[in-house]
Amino acid sequence: MKHAEIVAWLKEARPEALSELWQLADQLRHERVGDEVHLRGLVEFSNHCRRGCAYCGLRLARKEIERYRMSRREIMACAHEAVRRGYGSLVLQSGEDPGIPAEWIASLVSQVKSETPLAITLSLGERPLTDYQLWRDAGADRYLLRFETSDKKLYHRIHPELTGLPDRISLLRALKQMGFETGSGIMVGIPGQDYESIARDLELMRELDLDMIGLGPFVPHGDTPLARRPENFPPATRQVPATGLMACKVLALARLLRPDANIPSTTALATLDGERGRAAGLRRGANVLMPNLTPEHYRKAYQIYPEKAFLSDEGGSGGLAAWLETLGRVAGKGPGGRCGLARRAS
Ligand code: SAH
Repeated sequence: MKHAEIVAWLKEARPEALSELWQLADQLRHERVGDEVHLRGLVEFSNHCRRGCAYCGLRLARKEIERYRMSRREIMACAHEAVRRGYGSLVLQSGEDPGIPAEWIASLVSQVKSETPLAITLSLGERPLTDYQLWRDAGADRYLLRFETSDKKLYHRIHPELTGLPDRISLLRALKQMGFETGSGIMVGIPGQDYESIARDLELMRELDLDMIGLGPFVPHGDTPLARRPENFPPATRQVPATGLMACKVLALARLLRPDANIPSTTALATLDGERGRAAGLRRGANVLMPNLTPEHYRKAYQIYPEKAFLSDEGGSGGLAAWLETLGRVAGKGPGGRCGLARRAS
């Protein structure tokens, strides 16, 4: 698909044309990754963060939030809960927390791998390549690191540089080289983001041959610079709206451009539009859900954005499986890695 065609789809507003886009994406999803919806148990194990991202509620400057790190025992309990509920993988996510030594993560990864059959996805932000390699060697299967936007100027405005590490796009290439299944994606509707910019993001997702693509609408958090100082973050002339519908268009196009990728119907989609948003994602190209396993008292302190919805699935995958059936889908079995991907050597 050419750049101009992607832009045209992104701007499309006619309901009958959009239903054609949803159908194309849904059909391709069915053909290439099937009707299984893979369930990944999400554990938000630390909200400490050294960064100052202008969009994120966990940014360092927010002194008023209670910071926590879950213990190894608490995280292992979540891993066993994931197995009990029939999930195939565990996503360990945190702020960018240098207080957690790389060796500690490596040893946690080994323990999860030795005690459970779960695939492990890490999402800990930017770290030295030697840390990533250590975690890969310990058995971590996947790494999630959204590039947020491919527009360098906009990216630096919302994600101030800190570490002198290579940019996220080079990190993603390195992660792939190490043999991680690699996931990335964007926020849709960041002030300053236009249609051309999102089309370039989608082309980059294709070029990087991403194994997983995560995206959702930008949800302003009242106590971040993006909400408090809008004058520093001017909208683009043709500003993309931060809506569930817009995010769905990007999701459907991501499916068309990366047909065999694993694509979740994300929390941010559900935050805007509730269960309807989550179902819409699944009908418009998504094939993954990430039920939240973080204990409630910690989850409350992991407010990347306000009113962050979560898929609780407290009744086990039984309840979720019944809901999936109403959408003509089934809960996935096993780790649910990228289809047909021979395991890359590290
Ligand atoms: N510290 C890790 C994990 C970040 S949270 C990292 O930086 O990679 C995961 C994702 O949530 C981010 O990559 C971002 O795309 C999304 N996110 C953060 N703030 C958001 C907001 N206000 N609205 C919508 N999505 C947001």
